[in-house]
Amino acid sequence: MTTPAIITVAITGNGPTKSDSEAVPVTPEEQIQSAVEAFDVGATICHVHVRDHEQRPSSDPALYAQVRDGIQRERPAMVIQFSTGARGRAPEEHLACVELSPEMASLPTGSVNFSDRIFENPPQMVEMAAGRMLKLGVRPEIEVFDFAMLYAAVELVTRGLLARPPHLQLVMGFSNALPVRESVADFFCAEVRELLPDASYSIMAIGDSQVVAHRWALAKGAHVRTGLEDNLYCEPGRLARSNAELVQRVAELCFEYDRHPASAAETRQLLKLPAGDDQPL
Ligand code: MG
Repeated sequence: MTTPAIITVAITGNGPTKSDSEAVPVTPEEQIQSAVEAFDVGATICHVHVRDHEQRPSSDPALYAQVRDGIQRERPAMVIQFSTGARGRAPEEHLACVELSPEMASLPTGSVNFSDRIFENPPQMVEMAAGRMLKLGVRPEIEVFDFAMLYAAVELVTRGLLARPPHLQLVMGFSNALPVRESVADFFCAEVRELLPDASYSIMAIGDSQVVAHRWALAKGAHVRTGLEDNLYCEPGRLARSNAELVQRVAELCFEYDRHPASAAETRQLLKLPAGDDQPL
């Protein structure tokens, strides 16, 4: 009997453009198609950023709605997670997508110095975002770029500002933030299990380290995230052909660790999300 591993696919992100890789989906039509292909090979959560006509990161709720509606039309069982991690715009702007009541949205619970800028999430903004998500029934994915964000999340859960059970994502590999080290992953897992025993959690790393982080995650009972937002390459020097190719690779890896890609129904059960309207559990 294998245990399910939820595969999240981060299809686009803020950064990569067509000049980095033709495979990056940037229009709503491309994003919907890419999500469908990823779902069909095992991804059940789609982490969504949107882009404007010039491929720049956007916070336009109309674009978010278009992508969500398209994915739901094609694959109604897929869980849609909007990113609130928009760069360089006012908080009201990058939280506008939460007002669309997506099933999930990302929530970084603190700030961190990246190599070239502050990833700035002041406490008032975090609380405002958490409060709106709680009110609207949006399940946050707590993004842990630094361990302080984990402890901030524990505090928010204790104060009743985050719904239980919480879901967390460990993000490794950003320079100046958490390095890609197994000891970091081990410490994260141990702290989550002790401090938030009902939480579900996923582990990811960006760039070349993606696969090693997948192996750690699968061995430690965590869930996984992949996709072109995090890594454009399938192997050194060879760009991934699609998000689906990256998903397929981690889906196959699951079986080496007595895991299997979680179905959409298993994903909803594990995260305690309501069953999808069109997909009986
Ligand atoms: Mg993102």
